[in-house]
Amino acid sequence: MAPIVRDKARLLEMVTPWKQSGEVVGVVPTMGALHDGHLSLVAAAKAVCDRVIVTIFVNPKQFNNPEDLANYPRTEESDARKLERFEVDAIWVPDGDQMYPKGFATTVSVSDLTDCLCGATRPGHFEGVATVVAKLFLQTQADKAFFGEKDYQQLQVVTRMAADLDIPIQVMGCPTIREEDGLAMSSRNLLLSDRARVYAPVLNEVMERIAEALRGGAIMSDVLPEALARLETAGFTGVDYLELRAADGLGLLESADVPSRLFAASWLAGVRLIDNIAV
Ligand code: AMP
Repeated sequence: MAPIVRDKARLLEMVTPWKQSGEVVGVVPTMGALHDGHLSLVAAAKAVCDRVIVTIFVNPKQFNNPEDLANYPRTEESDARKLERFEVDAIWVPDGDQMYPKGFATTVSVSDLTDCLCGATRPGHFEGVATVVAKLFLQTQADKAFFGEKDYQQLQVVTRMAADLDIPIQVMGCPTIREEDGLAMSSRNLLLSDRARVYAPVLNEVMERIAEALRGGAIMSDVLPEALARLETAGFTGVDYLELRAADGLGLLESADVPSRLFAASWLAGVRLIDNIAV
């Protein structure tokens, strides 16, 4: 079983000799409740790194809703078991005081990329993400970091942040892993009732349908009304966004004439589901 490390001094003690001997260190930041999506990042890290650190930290700063933070699944023991077969070198599980000791006063904020999508609908979310990820990058001294395209905007934000702050790390994006019915794997799927779980794949189904129409030359305003109606019929109670944006820079688009992605966030039975696909 990989050592579970809970304090910064111990982490530094482990990482220092790896760095001194020139080993390539990879980090996979997570909030736990690990599923095959997370594990695909661990596998990608293991394939190209000499040492792999998986981090598990439910970061309070990136939750804009206290209820969401309280309900977020925490399954450390089974997470550690799931990681066993990957033989990772450390599981970094800092507690709140290690991450944000008394007097902590710094926020990392990435502009522009965070104005839209989850940045617009979850105020403060990406400041929380950028702040904790900057800390994880510096704490682990990793050479490579692995993030999922499932959170495509987050991937863009942390890539920008590392470049802007001259943190010497390569951010690697990895494809979204899905359930057989198309639902993007997410720790939040655990919060869906049995009934909601049946309807959850409709989000991806609707998105695939839109993407196909866009590839055939349709524009967003043609296809949106039917898509929104389909979501409503399936029980989705609110759509935070359903938008086409440039894959690079996230500018809003009406048609897919540059490399683009379709982004959605919508609520089903009190659970916020997000997804995005290349068009
Ligand atoms: P989270 O624990 O939700 O903060 O996610 C930790 C990392 O796993 C992030 O880089 C996510 O983008 C990635 N991730 C989450 N779900 C998936 C998925 N279904 N496929 C690929 N990566 C994922």
